[in-house]
Amino acid sequence: MSECLFCRIRDGEIPAKLVYQDDRVVAFRDINPQAPTHVLVIPRKHIASLDAASGEDEGVLGHLNLVAARLARDEKLSGFRTVINNGAEAGQSVWHVHLHLLGGRPMRWPPG
Ligand code: 5GP
Ligand code: ZN
Repeated sequence: MSECLFCRIRDGEIPAKLVYQDDRVVAFRDINPQAPTHVLVIPRKHIASLDAASGEDEGVLGHLNLVAARLARDEKLSGFRTVINNGAEAGQSVWHVHLHLLGGRPMRWPPG
């Protein structure tokens, strides 16, 4: 059994509110939402962080972004933000790449 929380969600070993999945990515609602819409999109492949990704991951990382944009349309978000935290200093707490899709409220800039 995998040690990785998001691999376990991918494999259905830990329940999550799935919103989308295909052969390359899985999307599910964040357990502690920071906005009315807060979805996490992960590659099926375990990649610990964005800076651990390599050239062969280019396709799936592009797909991750396009899926997020499609989900934002499905959720009828007029604006949205995508975030990938990389490293503990940037707030990464789960070591499996995930894109946060946030929307449904005004967003401030710069982010904290
Ligand atoms: P990070 O801080 O690594 O950028 O984001 C990790 C995210 O995963 C956090 O927003 C956190 O709320 C979410 N999270 C942590 N554990 C779980 C879980 O068991 N299920 C779901 N759906 N989200 C989780
Ligand atoms: Zn993983």
